[in-house]
Amino acid sequence: MDNRREFIKKSSLLALAGVSMGSIVSSCQANTSSENTAGNNAAGNYELPKLPYSFDALAPHIDATTMEIHHGKHHAGYTKKFNAAINETTGSVADNFKDLFANVSNMSAGIRNNGGGYYNHDMFWKIMKPGGSEPSGEILEAINSTFESVDNFKTLFKAAAKGRFGSGWAWLVTNNGKLSIGSTPNQDNPLMDVSEIKGHPVMGIDVWEHAYYLNYQNKRGDYIDAWWNILNWEEIAKRYKEA
Ligand code: MN
Repeated sequence: MDNRREFIKKSSLLALAGVSMGSIVSSCQANTSSENTAGNNAAGNYELPKLPYSFDALAPHIDATTMEIHHGKHHAGYTKKFNAAINETTGSVADNFKDLFANVSNMSAGIRNNGGGYYNHDMFWKIMKPGGSEPSGEILEAINSTFESVDNFKTLFKAAAKGRFGSGWAWLVTNNGKLSIGSTPNQDNPLMDVSEIKGHPVMGIDVWEHAYYLNYQNKRGDYIDAWWNILNWEEIAKRYKEA
């Protein structure tokens, strides 16, 4: 759970035993990624999370080539640059995303942009799945009581996603169970102290052109409409519940 503490403990024990720390780092990377455990560490050793399905699994809603480039080039790029930005930082870097983003205004642009890119895409892959599903249980009740209906929620969410000027993300967030919709520019997210909308990200859609342009060109709205068909509502419900 607390990898950093565990790491420090192991490191000091092994240092006493005369073992080099370099070999220990890789064994401490339990690469889990909710914001509480996402940090393998603060040492700049984040790994590109594995896509939980094949590149073509979300077709025709998101095509295989888009997925391959998006994961293999864009997300891989954020991962690499995030590690580099951490390594270039002389001060301390929080080893979990919640604390890191809560203080991101004091961090470098490299950490803000690439840490955001790392976290946002990790969430994005997980809240989608081949074939999709429908909301149920607590998240459905919360959506209905906040937005009156799922259809109304989708209309408002789409408006936020379509209305985001340039590159960015639209979000459904929760603050103590209370849902709201908003959007952020670039790779910012609602965990960041710089964000206009704040809270725990329950779900988010990537509206950078790299997420849809090959298949949808300038028709961002069509991409958003198709996206509802591939949502993993079990994962979204889990994120709502754990917030
Ligand atoms: Mn993206």
